[in-house]
Amino acid sequence: MEVFICIMVFLFGICLGSFYSCIGYRIPNKISTVRPGSFCPHCKEPLKWYMNIPLFSFIFLKGKCAFCKEKISKMYFIIELLGGILFLSSYLYFGLTKEFFITITLISMLLVTIVTDFKYYYISDRVIIIGSILILGIYLYYLGFKETLFFIASAIIMFLLMWVIKILGDKIFKKESLGGGDIKLMFPIGLTLGLINAVTSLLISSSLALILSLIMLKKNEENIVPFGPFLLIGTISMLILSYNGISLL
Ligand SMILES: [Zn+2]
Repeated sequence: MEVFICIMVFLFGICLGSFYSCIGYRIPNKISTVRPGSFCPHCKEPLKWYMNIPLFSFIFLKGKCAFCKEKISKMYFIIELLGGILFLSSYLYFGLTKEFFITITLISMLLVTIVTDFKYYYISDRVIIIGSILILGIYLYYLGFKETLFFIASAIIMFLLMWVIKILGDKIFKKESLGGGDIKLMFPIGLTLGLINAVTSLLISSSLALILSLIMLKKNEENIVPFGPFLLIGTISMLILSYNGISLL
């Protein structure tokens, strides 16, 4: 039975990963997330059902469109695989707890944001709103209204805090210091972790982003590091730490 649940969670992660890489491409390009069905972004030819099976189609088609032979971005394959692996890992780690449901919500936000923020420097409002509603629902279900109020207050404070940091940053650096999406993301992050742990996760995220930006600087690449994915990775890391009773501040 346990093995069966693991396989189901893995498949669920792969299928959602496939959906997330699709909407990650569609939202920034202003294409409806429902219609039309899947198509090749290069030749616009609609895909047949067997060209649309997560992971397998990419392997069978050898990473190329069956119609125009244009290469399919490896990102789709990676996001699908990541979805499966990360969903399964969270299940194995947390079991069917509230942490599991919150983690897969955050992973979902992360997978869409990896596509939109790395490719288009864009974080979708819809992702933030739907993610926040889901996390709120999970807390209300598990903790009740009174305890959830603390997390709602934390979410609002984190959002305002980041906003103040942005205004100060813009003044000091005389250019846009933080993107609007990064500020809005603080809402679901504060909601997930509560105030203190959310501040800690911000420190983890900033350190990770700084390391990547230094590596990119060394390679002389364009030094714009999308912050959104790091904020979510920091949040998931902090969730795991606090689950184990570890808090850094
Ligand atoms: Zn094509």
